[in-house]
Amino acid sequence: MRLYDTARQAVVPFEPGEGVLIYTCGITPYDATHLGHASTFITYDVLQRRLIDRGHSVKCVRNVTDVDDPLFAKARELGVHYLDLAAGEEARFERDLEALNALPVHSTPRASSAIADIRGFIGMVLDRGFAYEAGGSVYFDVTKFPSFGTVSNYSEERMLDYARERGGNVDDPNKRHPLDFVLWHPSLPDEPSWDAMWGAGRPGWHIECSALALRELGTTIDLHGGGSDLIFPHHECERAQSEAATGEPFVKHWMHVAMVYMDGHKMSKSLGNLVFVDALRKEWDPRAIRLGIIEHHYRREWEWEDTLMPRNAGRLAAWLACSHEESGVVDDVRAALDDDLDTPGALALIDEAAAKGLGVHEAMQLLGVHL
Ligand SMILES: [Zn+2]
Repeated sequence: MRLYDTARQAVVPFEPGEGVLIYTCGITPYDATHLGHASTFITYDVLQRRLIDRGHSVKCVRNVTDVDDPLFAKARELGVHYLDLAAGEEARFERDLEALNALPVHSTPRASSAIADIRGFIGMVLDRGFAYEAGGSVYFDVTKFPSFGTVSNYSEERMLDYARERGGNVDDPNKRHPLDFVLWHPSLPDEPSWDAMWGAGRPGWHIECSALALRELGTTIDLHGGGSDLIFPHHECERAQSEAATGEPFVKHWMHVAMVYMDGHKMSKSLGNLVFVDALRKEWDPRAIRLGIIEHHYRREWEWEDTLMPRNAGRLAAWLACSHEESGVVDDVRAALDDDLDTPGALALIDEAAAKGLGVHEAMQLLGVHL
């Protein structure tokens, strides 16, 4: 199997052992699941299915970021406890993914379950000299980690631009370098706060995933995933602090899923240009939604269009009419998936077989389109 690796910037062999350790950055549960989320997690579901089909056992961990600024802001707005809001939205997300026939993952740990792990992890980074305390916060010192920037391959200028755009507080006067990032910081008065030897507060944005990956999967994982908007700063920072803490390689293969657009902009909660999965489910067969997602290659950005669902409902009907005994297309579909998870290629093969009236049952199963 070959997959594109973000860090190496090339399609390279993905050759894990029998057991495959995968970590994907999950949601911040403060609103319903939109098509962008679904696209990310259905991509990893197709990967997981093909790995199982190839004889691997797969341990996939997908965290829930229930300690985070946007969740606190939404809870404040609604006047509810942030953990109640998170629990409700997490349950909706799980229902949506289940409806889209996503396989269960090994675990879905919450950030709020990991505060002790996070404090221990920060202690490891401090002990090894990669972090410093200032003004009640703990910062990672990027100047001590020369390979900072080798996940994203971004220039320092571009990293600074993204840090500025994505909440990196580059002008924080406590920082020694503008790209240094927070491991721990004091909480605002109405935010949750936990005791720590360097001052009460809460974890920074990135440390949760490093601590959870270590706790759930160990020091080195085979594949780390998430949306492409997480490449920097999130994944760059995760890698730096994980390798600083353990001294071991963190991730063998970085795989990112491109963003979904609507009206020319990335689908995002902050812009409000969203297509929600639960709204689509009211109108369309969830199998057609799944097909609508995977008819795009995971590395290419795509734009929502109104023709997407009718087209894929038609495709589903054509496949279901041919869901009798397998005609042999499944091996070609396997080959397409092994070629950088070429789902559009796989769909085209099945479309072609179905157009000839050939059976496509096994190939549908492989893509998670069940009868
Ligand atoms: Zn993460």
